[in-house]
Amino acid sequence: MGKKIIVAGGGHGGIAAASILASNGYDVTVYERHARDAMGYEWTDIFDKAGFTAAGMPLPPQDKFKLKEDMTFVGPAETIKLRQNTDPENLEIQMERKDIYTHLITQAQQNGAKFVFECEITGPVLFGNRVVGIQTAQGIVYADLVIDAAGLHSPIREQLPESLGVQTKVGEYERFFVYRAFFNKAAETAEDKFKIYLLREGKLGICWVAAEETHTDVLIGRFEPFDIEEANRTIASLRESNPAIGTEIVRGNQFVEIPVRQALGLLVADGYAAIGDSAFMTVPMIGSGIANSLKASRLLADAVMADTEGAFSASTLWKYQRDFFKNIGAPLAPMACVKLLLTRLQPQELDYIFETGILNGDDMTMDATSTSLSAIFSGMKPADVMTKVRGVIKNPAVLQKILRLGKQIAAATLATSTMPRSYSPEKACAWVKNYNNAFKR
Ligand SMILES: Cc1cc2nc3c(=O)[nH]c(=O)nc-3n(C[C@H](O)[C@H](O)[C@H](O)COP(=O)(O)OP(=O)(O)OC[C@H]3O[C@@H](n4cnc5c(N)ncnc54)[C@H](O)[C@@H]3O)c2cc1C
Repeated sequence: MGKKIIVAGGGHGGIAAASILASNGYDVTVYERHARDAMGYEWTDIFDKAGFTAAGMPLPPQDKFKLKEDMTFVGPAETIKLRQNTDPENLEIQMERKDIYTHLITQAQQNGAKFVFECEITGPVLFGNRVVGIQTAQGIVYADLVIDAAGLHSPIREQLPESLGVQTKVGEYERFFVYRAFFNKAAETAEDKFKIYLLREGKLGICWVAAEETHTDVLIGRFEPFDIEEANRTIASLRESNPAIGTEIVRGNQFVEIPVRQALGLLVADGYAAIGDSAFMTVPMIGSGIANSLKASRLLADAVMADTEGAFSASTLWKYQRDFFKNIGAPLAPMACVKLLLTRLQPQELDYIFETGILNGDDMTMDATSTSLSAIFSGMKPADVMTKVRGVIKNPAVLQKILRLGKQIAAATLATSTMPRSYSPEKACAWVKNYNNAFKR
Protein backbone atom coordinates (compact mmCIF):
# COMPACT_ATOMS: atom_id res chain seq x y z
CA MET A 1 0.00 0.00 0.00
CA GLY A 2 1.08 3.60 -0.52
CA LYS A 3 3.14 2.68 -3.57
CA LYS A 4 3.66 5.61 -5.92
CA ILE A 5 1.95 5.39 -9.29
CA ILE A 6 2.16 7.90 -12.14
CA VAL A 7 -0.53 8.08 -14.79
CA ALA A 8 1.21 9.65 -17.78
CA GLY A 9 -1.39 11.65 -19.75
CA GLY A 10 -5.02 12.12 -18.82
CA GLY A 11 -6.49 9.45 -21.10
CA HIS A 12 -9.88 8.06 -20.10
CA GLY A 13 -8.66 4.62 -19.01
CA GLY A 14 -5.73 6.12 -17.11
CA ILE A 15 -7.99 8.42 -15.08
CA ALA A 16 -10.37 5.53 -14.36
CA ALA A 17 -7.44 3.36 -13.20
CA ALA A 18 -6.19 6.27 -11.06
CA SER A 19 -9.63 6.47 -9.47
CA ILE A 20 -9.77 2.77 -8.55
CA LEU A 21 -6.17 2.64 -7.33
CA ALA A 22 -6.37 5.84 -5.27
CA SER A 23 -9.51 4.56 -3.57
CA ASN A 24 -7.50 1.47 -2.62
CA GLY A 25 -4.73 3.42 -0.93
CA TYR A 26 -2.19 3.93 -3.72
CA ASP A 27 -0.48 7.29 -4.11
CA VAL A 28 -1.59 8.15 -7.67
CA THR A 29 -0.87 11.31 -9.68
CA VAL A 30 -2.05 12.03 -13.21
CA TYR A 31 0.25 14.28 -15.30
CA GLU A 32 -1.58 16.01 -18.16
CA ARG A 33 -0.27 18.49 -20.74
CA HIS A 34 -3.48 20.51 -21.00
CA ALA A 35 -5.08 22.83 -18.48
CA ARG A 36 -8.14 21.17 -16.89
CA ASP A 37 -10.62 23.23 -18.94
CA ALA A 38 -8.80 22.52 -22.20
CA MET A 39 -9.05 18.72 -21.84
CA GLY A 40 -11.18 16.80 -24.32
CA TYR A 41 -12.72 18.01 -27.56
CA GLU A 42 -15.61 20.22 -28.57
CA TRP A 43 -17.75 17.30 -29.63
CA THR A 44 -19.81 14.31 -28.55
CA ASP A 45 -18.86 10.61 -28.35
CA ILE A 46 -20.83 7.39 -28.59
CA PHE A 47 -19.91 4.52 -26.28
CA ASP A 48 -21.15 1.73 -24.02
CA LYS A 49 -22.10 3.17 -20.63
CA ALA A 50 -21.12 -0.15 -19.02
CA GLY A 51 -17.58 1.25 -19.20
CA PHE A 52 -18.38 3.49 -16.21
CA THR A 53 -19.80 0.58 -14.22
CA ALA A 54 -16.77 -1.58 -15.01
CA ALA A 55 -14.55 1.20 -13.66
CA GLY A 56 -16.60 1.25 -10.43
CA MET A 57 -18.15 4.63 -11.20
CA PRO A 58 -21.77 5.74 -11.06
CA LEU A 59 -23.46 6.71 -14.32
CA PRO A 60 -23.38 10.44 -15.11
CA PRO A 61 -26.56 12.43 -14.43
CA GLN A 62 -29.38 11.56 -16.89
CA ASP A 63 -29.36 15.02 -18.49
CA LYS A 64 -25.69 14.59 -19.49
CA PHE A 65 -26.28 11.85 -22.06
CA LYS A 66 -28.83 10.56 -24.54
CA LEU A 67 -29.29 7.29 -26.42
CA LYS A 68 -27.62 7.08 -29.81
CA GLU A 69 -29.53 6.99 -33.13
CA ASP A 70 -29.25 4.01 -35.47
CA MET A 71 -26.70 4.63 -38.23
CA THR A 72 -27.22 4.17 -41.98
CA PHE A 73 -24.26 2.88 -44.00
CA VAL A 74 -23.99 4.18 -47.57
CA GLY A 75 -21.99 2.25 -50.21
CA PRO A 76 -19.44 4.00 -52.47
CA ALA A 77 -21.85 4.39 -55.44
CA GLU A 78 -24.58 5.55 -53.04
CA THR A 79 -26.98 3.09 -54.69
CA ILE A 80 -27.77 1.27 -51.48
CA LYS A 81 -28.12 2.14 -47.82
CA LEU A 82 -27.95 -0.34 -44.95
CA ARG A 83 -29.68 0.83 -41.80
CA GLN A 84 -28.80 -0.59 -38.41
CA ASN A 85 -31.46 -2.22 -36.33
CA THR A 86 -30.28 -1.86 -32.74
CA ASP A 87 -32.06 -3.50 -29.84
CA PRO A 88 -33.20 -0.50 -27.72
CA GLU A 89 -31.94 -2.38 -24.63
CA ASN A 90 -28.39 -2.33 -25.97
CA LEU A 91 -28.14 1.20 -27.30
CA GLU A 92 -24.90 3.05 -26.66
CA ILE A 93 -24.98 6.53 -25.18
CA GLN A 94 -23.94 9.84 -26.71
CA MET A 95 -22.24 12.33 -24.41
CA GLU A 96 -20.20 15.52 -24.66
CA ARG A 97 -16.46 14.73 -24.44
CA LYS A 98 -16.01 17.58 -21.93
CA ASP A 99 -18.74 16.07 -19.71
CA ILE A 100 -17.10 12.63 -19.86
CA TYR A 101 -13.89 14.19 -18.56
CA THR A 102 -15.72 16.11 -15.84
CA HIS A 103 -17.36 12.89 -14.66
CA LEU A 104 -14.13 10.87 -14.66
CA ILE A 105 -11.95 13.54 -13.05
CA THR A 106 -14.51 14.35 -10.35
CA GLN A 107 -14.75 10.67 -9.41
CA ALA A 108 -10.97 10.21 -9.43
CA GLN A 109 -10.38 13.33 -7.30
CA GLN A 110 -13.06 12.27 -4.80
CA ASN A 111 -11.22 8.95 -4.50
CA GLY A 112 -7.93 10.72 -3.74
CA ALA A 113 -6.15 10.79 -7.11
CA LYS A 114 -4.02 13.90 -7.66
CA PHE A 115 -3.72 15.82 -10.93
CA VAL A 116 -0.90 17.97 -12.29
CA PHE A 117 -2.22 19.92 -15.28
CA GLU A 118 -0.23 21.85 -17.88
CA CYS A 119 2.67 19.45 -17.51
CA GLU A 120 4.26 18.25 -20.76
CA ILE A 121 5.75 14.75 -20.55
CA THR A 122 8.78 14.33 -22.78
CA GLY A 123 9.69 10.67 -22.25
CA PRO A 124 10.22 7.79 -19.83
CA VAL A 125 12.98 7.59 -17.23
CA LEU A 126 14.68 4.20 -17.53
CA PHE A 127 16.94 2.29 -15.18
CA GLY A 128 18.26 -0.49 -17.38
CA ASN A 129 15.10 -1.92 -18.92
CA ARG A 130 12.80 -0.78 -16.11
CA VAL A 131 10.62 2.31 -16.40
CA VAL A 132 11.18 4.20 -13.15
CA GLY A 133 9.53 7.51 -13.90
CA ILE A 134 8.76 10.22 -16.42
CA GLN A 135 10.64 13.19 -17.79
CA THR A 136 8.53 16.32 -17.86
CA ALA A 137 9.11 19.93 -18.86
CA GLN A 138 9.15 20.67 -15.10
CA GLY A 139 11.67 17.94 -14.26
CA ILE A 140 11.92 14.22 -13.55
CA VAL A 141 9.32 12.39 -11.43
CA TYR A 142 10.01 8.87 -10.14
CA ALA A 143 7.41 6.20 -9.39
CA ASP A 144 7.02 2.48 -8.70
CA LEU A 145 4.74 2.15 -11.74
CA VAL A 146 4.03 4.32 -14.78
CA ILE A 147 0.61 3.83 -16.38
CA ASP A 148 0.83 5.14 -19.93
CA ALA A 149 -2.44 6.90 -20.85
CA ALA A 150 -0.92 9.51 -23.17
CA GLY A 151 -2.75 8.48 -26.32
CA LEU A 152 -1.74 7.31 -29.80
CA HIS A 153 1.57 9.20 -29.89
CA SER A 154 2.55 8.59 -26.28
CA PRO A 155 6.09 9.92 -25.72
CA ILE A 156 6.56 7.14 -23.16
CA ARG A 157 5.66 4.20 -25.43
CA GLU A 158 7.43 5.74 -28.43
CA GLN A 159 10.73 5.95 -26.52
CA LEU A 160 10.77 2.51 -24.90
CA PRO A 161 13.80 0.40 -25.91
CA GLU A 162 12.97 -1.91 -28.83
CA SER A 163 14.35 -4.84 -26.80
CA LEU A 164 11.25 -4.76 -24.56
CA GLY A 165 9.08 -5.87 -27.49
CA VAL A 166 6.48 -3.12 -26.92
CA GLN A 167 5.61 -1.75 -30.36
CA THR A 168 6.62 1.90 -30.32
CA LYS A 169 5.20 3.27 -33.59
CA VAL A 170 1.95 2.81 -35.52
CA GLY A 171 2.20 1.66 -39.12
CA GLU A 172 0.40 2.40 -42.39
CA TYR A 173 -3.35 1.72 -42.45
CA GLU A 174 -3.32 1.54 -38.64
CA ARG A 175 -4.76 4.97 -37.89
CA PHE A 176 -7.37 7.29 -39.26
CA PHE A 177 -6.46 10.89 -40.02
CA VAL A 178 -9.64 12.69 -39.09
CA TYR A 179 -11.21 16.09 -39.68
CA ARG A 180 -14.33 16.87 -37.65
CA ALA A 181 -16.56 19.94 -37.40
CA PHE A 182 -20.11 20.82 -36.33
CA PHE A 183 -21.94 23.01 -38.86
CA ASN A 184 -25.11 25.04 -38.40
CA LYS A 185 -28.15 22.97 -39.34
CA ALA A 186 -29.39 24.34 -42.63
CA ALA A 187 -32.36 21.96 -43.19
CA GLU A 188 -34.37 19.31 -41.36
CA THR A 189 -33.61 15.63 -42.07
CA ALA A 190 -36.64 13.34 -42.05
CA GLU A 191 -34.84 9.98 -42.12
CA ASP A 192 -31.32 8.55 -41.95
CA LYS A 193 -30.16 11.21 -39.54
CA PHE A 194 -26.80 9.52 -38.98
CA LYS A 195 -25.15 8.43 -42.23
CA ILE A 196 -21.77 6.75 -42.65
CA TYR A 197 -20.32 6.81 -46.15
CA LEU A 198 -17.75 4.09 -46.96
CA LEU A 199 -14.99 4.48 -49.58
CA ARG A 200 -16.81 7.58 -50.86
CA GLU A 201 -15.35 9.02 -54.09
CA GLY A 202 -12.96 6.06 -54.16
CA LYS A 203 -11.06 7.36 -51.11
CA LEU A 204 -9.94 4.79 -48.53
CA GLY A 205 -11.88 5.80 -45.44
CA ILE A 206 -15.22 6.99 -44.15
CA CYS A 207 -17.28 10.17 -43.84
CA TRP A 208 -20.13 10.62 -41.42
CA VAL A 209 -22.93 13.15 -41.47
CA ALA A 210 -25.06 13.26 -38.33
CA ALA A 211 -28.01 15.65 -38.28
CA GLU A 212 -28.38 16.51 -34.60
CA GLU A 213 -31.06 18.76 -33.07
CA THR A 214 -29.07 21.97 -33.25
CA HIS A 215 -26.22 21.27 -35.67
CA THR A 216 -24.87 18.82 -38.27
CA ASP A 217 -21.82 16.82 -37.27
CA VAL A 218 -19.41 16.03 -40.14
CA LEU A 219 -16.38 13.74 -39.83
CA ILE A 220 -13.96 12.72 -42.56
CA GLY A 221 -11.57 9.84 -41.74
CA ARG A 222 -8.86 8.61 -44.12
CA PHE A 223 -5.84 6.33 -43.93
CA GLU A 224 -3.65 9.11 -45.36
CA PRO A 225 -3.24 12.69 -44.17
CA PHE A 226 -5.22 15.38 -46.00
CA ASP A 227 -5.45 19.15 -45.70
CA ILE A 228 -8.22 21.68 -45.09
CA GLU A 229 -8.71 22.32 -48.84
CA GLU A 230 -9.43 18.61 -49.35
CA ALA A 231 -11.73 18.59 -46.28
CA ASN A 232 -13.65 21.60 -47.62
CA ARG A 233 -13.98 20.01 -51.05
CA THR A 234 -15.36 16.80 -49.52
CA ILE A 235 -17.77 18.74 -47.29
CA ALA A 236 -19.04 20.73 -50.29
CA SER A 237 -19.76 17.50 -52.16
CA LEU A 238 -21.43 15.93 -49.09
CA ARG A 239 -23.58 19.06 -48.81
CA GLU A 240 -25.11 18.35 -52.25
CA SER A 241 -26.92 15.27 -50.90
CA ASN A 242 -27.10 16.49 -47.29
CA PRO A 243 -28.70 19.96 -47.22
CA ALA A 244 -28.61 19.80 -43.39
CA ILE A 245 -24.90 20.72 -43.54
CA GLY A 246 -24.80 24.51 -43.23
CA THR A 247 -21.85 26.68 -44.18
CA GLU A 248 -21.08 28.07 -40.74
CA ILE A 249 -18.77 26.08 -38.44
CA VAL A 250 -20.14 26.18 -34.90
CA ARG A 251 -17.73 23.80 -33.12
CA GLY A 252 -14.78 21.51 -33.76
CA ASN A 253 -12.94 22.27 -37.01
CA GLN A 254 -9.98 20.16 -36.01
CA PHE A 255 -7.64 17.51 -37.42
CA VAL A 256 -6.91 14.54 -35.12
CA GLU A 257 -5.82 10.89 -35.34
CA ILE A 258 -7.49 7.69 -34.13
CA PRO A 259 -5.91 4.22 -33.93
CA VAL A 260 -7.87 1.69 -36.02
CA ARG A 261 -5.88 -1.53 -35.65
CA GLN A 262 -5.39 -4.53 -33.41
CA ALA A 263 -4.58 -3.84 -29.77
CA LEU A 264 -0.94 -3.26 -28.83
CA GLY A 265 0.67 -6.72 -28.54
CA LEU A 266 2.67 -6.25 -25.36
CA LEU A 267 0.93 -3.95 -22.88
CA VAL A 268 3.44 -4.30 -20.06
CA ALA A 269 7.12 -4.03 -19.18
CA ASP A 270 8.93 -3.71 -15.87
CA GLY A 271 7.41 -0.64 -14.18
CA TYR A 272 5.12 0.06 -17.15
CA ALA A 273 1.57 -0.63 -18.37
CA ALA A 274 -0.23 0.94 -21.35
CA ILE A 275 -3.96 1.67 -21.55
CA GLY A 276 -6.39 3.39 -23.94
CA ASP A 277 -5.22 4.84 -27.25
CA SER A 278 -1.58 4.44 -26.23
CA ALA A 279 -2.35 0.69 -26.35
CA PHE A 280 -4.60 1.00 -29.46
CA MET A 281 -7.70 -0.25 -27.63
CA THR A 282 -10.20 1.17 -30.13
CA VAL A 283 -12.64 -1.00 -32.09
CA PRO A 284 -10.59 -1.33 -35.32
CA MET A 285 -13.33 -0.61 -37.84
CA ILE A 286 -14.94 2.36 -36.12
CA GLY A 287 -12.37 3.88 -33.77
CA SER A 288 -14.47 3.81 -30.59
CA GLY A 289 -12.15 3.48 -27.65
CA ILE A 290 -13.73 5.02 -24.59
CA ALA A 291 -15.64 2.01 -23.26
CA ASN A 292 -12.73 -0.39 -23.87
CA SER A 293 -10.35 1.96 -22.06
CA LEU A 294 -12.68 2.20 -19.07
CA LYS A 295 -13.20 -1.57 -18.98
CA ALA A 296 -9.42 -2.10 -19.21
CA SER A 297 -8.90 0.21 -16.20
CA ARG A 298 -10.60 -2.37 -13.97
CA LEU A 299 -8.37 -5.18 -15.33
CA LEU A 300 -5.22 -3.11 -14.86
CA ALA A 301 -6.15 -2.00 -11.34
CA ASP A 302 -6.93 -5.61 -10.36
CA ALA A 303 -3.51 -6.75 -11.61
CA VAL A 304 -1.76 -3.93 -9.72
CA MET A 305 -3.62 -4.78 -6.52
CA ALA A 306 -2.93 -8.51 -6.91
CA ASP A 307 0.80 -7.67 -6.80
CA THR A 308 0.87 -7.32 -3.02
CA GLU A 309 4.67 -6.99 -2.96
CA GLY A 310 4.42 -3.97 -5.28
CA ALA A 311 7.05 -5.28 -7.70
CA PHE A 312 5.07 -4.07 -10.75
CA SER A 313 7.31 -6.09 -13.03
CA ALA A 314 6.32 -7.42 -16.45
CA SER A 315 5.81 -10.77 -14.68
CA THR A 316 3.34 -9.47 -12.11
CA LEU A 317 1.59 -7.18 -14.62
CA TRP A 318 1.20 -10.15 -16.98
CA LYS A 319 -2.18 -10.76 -15.30
CA TYR A 320 -3.36 -7.50 -16.92
CA GLN A 321 -1.93 -8.58 -20.28
CA ARG A 322 -3.81 -11.90 -20.15
CA ASP A 323 -7.06 -10.54 -18.73
CA PHE A 324 -7.14 -7.72 -21.28
CA PHE A 325 -6.66 -10.08 -24.23
CA LYS A 326 -9.14 -12.61 -22.87
CA ASN A 327 -11.88 -10.02 -22.42
CA ILE A 328 -11.16 -7.31 -25.00
CA GLY A 329 -8.06 -7.78 -27.17
CA ALA A 330 -8.84 -11.25 -28.56
CA PRO A 331 -12.46 -10.45 -29.56
CA LEU A 332 -11.21 -7.27 -31.28
CA ALA A 333 -8.54 -9.09 -33.32
CA PRO A 334 -10.92 -10.48 -36.03
CA MET A 335 -12.38 -6.98 -36.37
CA ALA A 336 -8.87 -5.72 -37.17
CA CYS A 337 -8.78 -8.32 -39.97
CA VAL A 338 -12.10 -7.04 -41.34
CA LYS A 339 -10.69 -3.52 -41.32
CA LEU A 340 -7.73 -4.80 -43.35
CA LEU A 341 -10.18 -6.37 -45.80
CA LEU A 342 -11.87 -2.97 -46.20
CA THR A 343 -8.51 -1.44 -47.15
CA ARG A 344 -8.10 -4.12 -49.85
CA LEU A 345 -11.58 -3.84 -51.38
CA GLN A 346 -12.25 -1.86 -54.54
CA PRO A 347 -15.25 0.51 -54.19
CA GLN A 348 -17.24 -1.52 -56.75
CA GLU A 349 -16.57 -4.69 -54.73
CA LEU A 350 -17.99 -3.07 -51.59
CA ASP A 351 -21.04 -1.96 -53.60
CA TYR A 352 -21.45 -5.56 -54.77
CA ILE A 353 -21.24 -6.79 -51.14
CA PHE A 354 -23.98 -4.36 -50.11
CA GLU A 355 -26.18 -4.85 -53.19
CA THR A 356 -26.18 -8.68 -53.07
CA GLY A 357 -26.86 -8.87 -49.32
CA ILE A 358 -23.47 -10.36 -48.41
CA LEU A 359 -23.72 -7.69 -45.71
CA ASN A 360 -27.07 -6.35 -44.54
CA GLY A 361 -28.34 -3.84 -41.99
CA ASP A 362 -28.29 -6.42 -39.17
CA ASP A 363 -24.61 -7.16 -39.86
CA MET A 364 -23.85 -3.46 -39.56
CA THR A 365 -25.69 -3.24 -36.23
CA MET A 366 -22.93 -2.63 -33.75
CA ASP A 367 -24.31 -1.86 -30.32
CA ALA A 368 -23.00 -1.87 -26.77
CA THR A 369 -22.76 -5.68 -26.87
CA SER A 370 -20.92 -5.86 -30.22
CA THR A 371 -17.49 -6.50 -28.85
CA SER A 372 -16.61 -9.27 -31.29
CA LEU A 373 -17.43 -10.45 -34.80
CA SER A 374 -19.26 -13.48 -33.43
CA ALA A 375 -21.48 -11.18 -31.32
CA ILE A 376 -22.33 -9.16 -34.44
CA PHE A 377 -23.12 -12.19 -36.61
CA SER A 378 -24.79 -14.32 -33.92
CA GLY A 379 -28.43 -15.11 -34.59
CA MET A 380 -28.02 -14.94 -38.38
CA LYS A 381 -30.96 -16.58 -40.19
CA PRO A 382 -30.21 -19.62 -42.48
CA ALA A 383 -31.70 -17.71 -45.47
CA ASP A 384 -29.23 -14.88 -44.83
CA VAL A 385 -26.34 -17.35 -44.76
CA MET A 386 -27.39 -18.73 -48.16
CA THR A 387 -27.64 -15.21 -49.63
CA LYS A 388 -24.16 -14.42 -48.39
CA VAL A 389 -22.61 -17.65 -49.66
CA ARG A 390 -24.26 -17.29 -53.11
CA GLY A 391 -23.13 -13.67 -53.37
CA VAL A 392 -19.53 -14.44 -52.45
CA ILE A 393 -19.23 -17.46 -54.77
CA LYS A 394 -20.53 -15.54 -57.79
CA ASN A 395 -17.79 -12.91 -57.65
CA PRO A 396 -14.25 -14.40 -57.92
CA ALA A 397 -12.46 -11.20 -56.82
CA VAL A 398 -14.66 -10.86 -53.72
CA LEU A 399 -14.39 -14.61 -53.06
CA GLN A 400 -10.60 -14.42 -53.09
CA LYS A 401 -10.59 -11.52 -50.64
CA ILE A 402 -13.11 -13.17 -48.32
CA LEU A 403 -11.04 -16.39 -48.31
CA ARG A 404 -7.96 -14.38 -47.42
CA LEU A 405 -9.97 -12.71 -44.64
CA GLY A 406 -10.93 -16.15 -43.29
CA LYS A 407 -7.26 -17.23 -43.21
CA GLN A 408 -6.23 -14.01 -41.54
CA ILE A 409 -8.93 -14.30 -38.86
CA ALA A 410 -7.82 -17.88 -38.17
CA ALA A 411 -4.19 -16.75 -37.80
CA ALA A 412 -5.14 -13.82 -35.54
CA THR A 413 -7.35 -16.04 -33.37
CA LEU A 414 -4.60 -18.63 -33.07
CA ALA A 415 -2.08 -15.93 -32.15
CA THR A 416 -4.22 -14.49 -29.36
CA SER A 417 -5.01 -17.96 -27.99
CA THR A 418 -1.35 -18.95 -27.74
CA MET A 419 -0.24 -16.09 -25.48
CA PRO A 420 2.22 -17.40 -22.85
CA ARG A 421 0.63 -18.08 -19.46
CA SER A 422 3.53 -16.46 -17.65
CA TYR A 423 6.03 -13.79 -18.65
CA SER A 424 9.59 -14.28 -19.78
CA PRO A 425 11.26 -11.78 -22.13
CA GLU A 426 11.99 -14.49 -24.71
CA LYS A 427 8.49 -16.00 -24.69
CA ALA A 428 6.80 -12.58 -24.73
CA CYS A 429 8.92 -11.27 -27.63
CA ALA A 430 8.41 -14.46 -29.67
CA TRP A 431 4.67 -14.33 -29.05
CA VAL A 432 4.29 -10.66 -29.99
CA LYS A 433 6.18 -11.20 -33.25
CA ASN A 434 3.72 -13.93 -34.19
CA TYR A 435 0.75 -11.75 -33.10
CA ASN A 436 1.89 -8.75 -35.18
CA ASN A 437 2.56 -10.96 -38.22
CA ALA A 438 -1.10 -12.02 -38.21
CA PHE A 439 -2.16 -8.49 -39.20
CA LYS A 440 -0.05 -7.86 -42.29
CA ARG A 441 -2.02 -5.99 -44.96
C1 LIG B 1 -12.73 12.61 -33.90
C2 LIG B 1 -12.78 11.49 -32.92
C3 LIG B 1 -14.00 10.91 -32.64
C4 LIG B 1 -14.07 9.86 -31.73
N1 LIG B 1 -15.29 9.33 -31.43
C5 LIG B 1 -15.38 8.37 -30.52
C6 LIG B 1 -16.66 7.87 -30.13
O1 LIG B 1 -17.70 8.32 -30.62
N2 LIG B 1 -16.69 6.87 -29.22
C7 LIG B 1 -15.56 6.36 -28.65
O2 LIG B 1 -15.66 5.45 -27.82
N3 LIG B 1 -14.34 6.82 -28.99
C8 LIG B 1 -14.22 7.80 -29.91
N4 LIG B 1 -12.99 8.28 -30.25
C9 LIG B 1 -11.78 7.61 -29.72
C10 LIG B 1 -11.52 8.05 -28.31
O3 LIG B 1 -11.21 9.40 -28.29
C11 LIG B 1 -10.33 7.26 -27.71
O4 LIG B 1 -10.27 5.96 -28.17
C12 LIG B 1 -10.44 7.24 -26.19
O5 LIG B 1 -10.52 8.53 -25.72
C13 LIG B 1 -9.27 6.55 -25.53
O6 LIG B 1 -8.12 7.31 -25.75
P1 LIG B 1 -7.27 7.87 -24.52
O7 LIG B 1 -8.20 8.58 -23.61
O8 LIG B 1 -6.46 6.78 -24.01
O9 LIG B 1 -6.31 8.86 -25.28
P2 LIG B 1 -6.48 10.39 -25.62
O10 LIG B 1 -7.91 10.74 -25.81
O11 LIG B 1 -5.54 10.67 -26.74
O12 LIG B 1 -5.97 11.09 -24.30
C14 LIG B 1 -4.59 11.17 -24.03
C15 LIG B 1 -4.35 12.26 -23.01
O13 LIG B 1 -2.97 12.34 -22.76
C16 LIG B 1 -2.55 13.68 -22.88
N5 LIG B 1 -1.18 13.70 -23.40
C17 LIG B 1 -0.76 13.28 -24.60
N6 LIG B 1 0.56 13.49 -24.75
C18 LIG B 1 0.97 14.08 -23.60
C19 LIG B 1 2.23 14.57 -23.15
N7 LIG B 1 3.32 14.51 -23.92
N8 LIG B 1 2.30 15.11 -21.92
C20 LIG B 1 1.21 15.18 -21.13
N9 LIG B 1 -0.01 14.76 -21.51
C21 LIG B 1 -0.13 14.21 -22.73
C22 LIG B 1 -3.52 14.32 -23.87
O14 LIG B 1 -3.57 15.72 -23.69
C23 LIG B 1 -4.83 13.62 -23.49
O15 LIG B 1 -5.49 14.29 -22.45
C24 LIG B 1 -12.88 9.35 -31.12
C25 LIG B 1 -11.66 9.95 -31.40
C26 LIG B 1 -11.60 11.02 -32.27
C27 LIG B 1 -10.27 11.65 -32.53
